[in-house]
Amino acid sequence: MTLSQPKITFKSALESKPEIEKKIMQLFAMSEQLASERKEINEKFTNLTEDFLAEDRPTTTIEFNSLLEKFSDVNIPVEPTNFESYLDYLANNVIAHSVHTGSPKFIGHMTSALPYFVQPLAKLMMAMNQNVVKIETSKALSPYERQALAMIHRLIYNFSDRFYAQHIQNSQSTLGILVSGGTAANITALWCARNTSLGPKDDFPGIESEGLVAALNYYGYKEAVVIGSDLMHYSFDKAADLLGIGARGLIKVKSNSNNRIDIPALQQTVADCQAQNKHIIAIVGVAGTTDSGGVDSLTEIAAIAREANVHFHVDAAWGGALIFSQQYQHKLAGIEQADSVTIDGHKQLYLPMNLGMLFLRNPHIAKVIEKNATYTIRKGSFDLGKRALEGSRSGMALFLHAGLNLIGIKGYEFLIDEGIHKTQYLANRIRELPEFELLAEPEINLLIYRYIPENLRARAAQKQLTEIDNQRINQFNEILQKKQRQAGRTFISRTTKTNLERTIPIVALRAVIANPLTTEKDIDEVLNDQIQIALEIANSTSLESADHVA
Ligand SMILES: *Cc1c(COP(=O)(O)O)cnc(C)c1O
Repeated sequence: MTLSQPKITFKSALESKPEIEKKIMQLFAMSEQLASERKEINEKFTNLTEDFLAEDRPTTTIEFNSLLEKFSDVNIPVEPTNFESYLDYLANNVIAHSVHTGSPKFIGHMTSALPYFVQPLAKLMMAMNQNVVKIETSKALSPYERQALAMIHRLIYNFSDRFYAQHIQNSQSTLGILVSGGTAANITALWCARNTSLGPKDDFPGIESEGLVAALNYYGYKEAVVIGSDLMHYSFDKAADLLGIGARGLIKVKSNSNNRIDIPALQQTVADCQAQNKHIIAIVGVAGTTDSGGVDSLTEIAAIAREANVHFHVDAAWGGALIFSQQYQHKLAGIEQADSVTIDGHKQLYLPMNLGMLFLRNPHIAKVIEKNATYTIRKGSFDLGKRALEGSRSGMALFLHAGLNLIGIKGYEFLIDEGIHKTQYLANRIRELPEFELLAEPEINLLIYRYIPENLRARAAQKQLTEIDNQRINQFNEILQKKQRQAGRTFISRTTKTNLERTIPIVALRAVIANPLTTEKDIDEVLNDQIQIALEIANSTSLESADHVA
């Protein structure tokens, strides 16, 4: 193998070996003299960050295809690049075209503004570079992480002081697992459920050593399934694949027009599985569906799971934070009966990306996924990596612990309540404006609606839209959403709803109102922007003219 001759992307004169050594060692060294040299770079960095955060437009208008061209060179520079010129490159090519997820008019996704304390903590976390996979690389951070997780565990399950004293720092117990996101949390939950329900018995060593086929054979089942609603997050498709039950093993029960799982249909599905000798690994309830914020009736699902003696998992990646709100926590009633609960810190806890959590009712259940290694992660150790899908992991607990302390229960309650109230404002505006149709009453802070072209409004108002009308409205809304995204002034996302009791799937505009900086005025501006763009589309005579928008 020979090194390819790369183009020199950044300025660089040929440097000798000692020069390179000097340069590289300077990257790692922390001398005072270097600190003053770095001052300029740090300032530049601070300015870039502040300018980015100050911009209130969601995006630039650059075409995605021209962005792709910027990132098509596959050559690694042979010599070290000067950091300042690299920062310039970043500023012009990456930062300039990044999405301002913190913009108050970016109200279409689950990613929004972060509290300011995240930035200094991020710097600290990166500087400390702890690895919580094992105690030897994270002495204080591991128990600190366990404490933060236990705090939320208590909010969900509210067990006794004695329970928490016994388990919070006991290496045999796992109250929660910090993971990279809701996906990893959901996979871990089903992994625990699978290994528990098909575990060792009598002379059978269990699924962990024998695998799925042998376990089903031993227990006398034909196949294994996971049951949830058709609004389950697609991370369950990944989980089903990884756990060996396949796509057909993930049974999606229909949801009703309230975006909740249809309870009689769930009961029927459970009965059918039992009659057909299918092993149910888990029943999943969703608290805050990703597409429209529906919250399943967790109490009813809990009862069904208990009756069937099946693991009950709640995916509260989005909606879990409602637990902080006196006014809205009743929507989560039944969550305390869940065997496991997923909550994303990077969603409604306003913490940075890559902070997912899984909470476990039984502190010993995670033992069924425990793995050890002789060089580290030893049996009986405190190492967090032994009961986790992921290995090396950063000190994300810093943000969680800080958020819980610096925002507190009252702070989170305020944030949750505000989001829901502003969503009500948006719902009211949509009801008032003839241009729009509300597609479902918002359950929390997600809202789905659509634009109705003028010539169809009368029929829409009388609920007399034909299938062809709906197709035209679908097409119109799809173009509207793409044009709005491309214009870059405001942002709303888009989904397709199949449970609205209409003859065809309906394209819906999807608002997510979580950014504390979003005001009612911002919401009005987003709607006005859509009305403006819709008029332009209508005036451009043919819908096809918008087709080139990717
Ligand atoms: C976001 C979300 C997930 C996936 O979480 P990631 O953090 O993106 O992996 C799963 N379920 C629900 C309900 C979600 O909202």
